[in-house]
Amino acid sequence: MSRSAHPAGPRHADVLPEGHYFAPPADLNALDPKVWARTVTRTDTGAVSVGGLDVRALAEEFGTPAYVLDESDFRARCRAWHQAFGGEADVFYAGKAFLSRAVVRWLHEEGLNLDVCSAGELATALAAGMPAERIALHGNNKSTEEIRRAVEAGVGRIVLDSFQEIVRVAHIAERLGKRQRVQIRVTVGVEAHTHEFIATAHEDQKFGIALAGGQAAEAVRRALKLDGLELIGIHSHIGSQIFDMAGFEVSARRVVQLLADIRDEHGVELPEIDLGGGLGIAYTSDDDPREPHEIAASLTSIVTRECQAAGLAVPRISVEPGRAIVGPTAFTLYEVGTVKVLEGLRTYVSVDGGMSDNIRTALYDAEYSVSLVSRASDAEPMLVRVVGKHCESGDIVVRDAFLPADVAPGDLIAVPATGAYCRSMASNYNHALRPPVVAVNDGTARVIVRRETEEDLMRLDVG
Ligand SMILES: *Cc1c(COP(=O)(O)O)cnc(C)c1O
Repeated sequence: MSRSAHPAGPRHADVLPEGHYFAPPADLNALDPKVWARTVTRTDTGAVSVGGLDVRALAEEFGTPAYVLDESDFRARCRAWHQAFGGEADVFYAGKAFLSRAVVRWLHEEGLNLDVCSAGELATALAAGMPAERIALHGNNKSTEEIRRAVEAGVGRIVLDSFQEIVRVAHIAERLGKRQRVQIRVTVGVEAHTHEFIATAHEDQKFGIALAGGQAAEAVRRALKLDGLELIGIHSHIGSQIFDMAGFEVSARRVVQLLADIRDEHGVELPEIDLGGGLGIAYTSDDDPREPHEIAASLTSIVTRECQAAGLAVPRISVEPGRAIVGPTAFTLYEVGTVKVLEGLRTYVSVDGGMSDNIRTALYDAEYSVSLVSRASDAEPMLVRVVGKHCESGDIVVRDAFLPADVAPGDLIAVPATGAYCRSMASNYNHALRPPVVAVNDGTARVIVRRETEEDLMRLDVG
């Protein structure tokens, strides 16, 4: 189809990439359950509700922009991951996707463990009562203070990321009179991106210790010698927003080979293997993520098969989904401020937030969808770009999406699947006040992270 005959009309000619046919959805009022939290529906009034609450009432009470998080959906996803492995694996939620004390309590109640990668995340986890033995500390450059706090608290594992860190953690643990359980993070030479992966011998990245060149084997040799460390397993994390299980297959095969080499050299079978996170979610209707039980069955069978081939007992598996748990549970609620029609070019819909509450579009070219949520509309689909209010032309929230052509200032629109890496990566650019996270559940709404105020800004700016 020629771009100048775009179904959205001549106004939208020439705005799409060459060869990209972008059809409007059959029904603009429909809400694709793939991208929206489970309790989101459009009610008889035409407006959208979540957790039994009308978004117009939420906007009224909590203001916009706001992240609205469906607590029952979050808990259901935790349970689905927990049950997917039938208790045969440990699920660590990756706190960097989104962390707050309420979230920590939900994780604890639903039987999940927690990954942290900074002192701040560790403090949040401990403050909310996550038992230390269910916390794992990550990071490619943990400070000695972060390591000390984690060891002192008694975290269940520290994932060692470099040769320096092996001795650093051992030294700190010994000084504290402890033996710290650790895993070694290895880079297996798998680069996974969404629908494809590349298996290589080497990897050019800052994380982990390479399997290639015997580096990981040397790290194991050193860790096994140190009294302050109890080496319990090998860790591998291959990427993010992955749909193709083949990358995990290559990764698992290479990690199991290392376990076999360790057995042959040292006579020990390490009891654990962590395959990381990175499992993809649907940001738009084009994405088709797998269910946790399918992923669990696939990972378990890969590891079992590889271990049998190597004559190893099957180690305990752990996984670290972040995005796949929290991503789909929240949407960002915005109010439309202006609609600017550039004849023959494009229509810009500006909202009251932007790159300060969702940097992923600017940073990763991430794709999102958007819907009009304060009312239904029978107007024709109009191709738009949803942008923020920041002083930067790259301040794009949704690059290309259809909204009803009558979208107007004062309407509420919402961008789904913003639970992961949006609030956690939010900034104060232009002295924006970071939006609240409002948790809804069964007819009640509660702020779990409040909106920033100008007073908060002034408190940091000491004059
Ligand atoms: C970021 C990260 C995760 C979580 O990634 P998601 O894409 O959110 O699932 C898991 N493990 C490690 C080590 C990570 O760095």
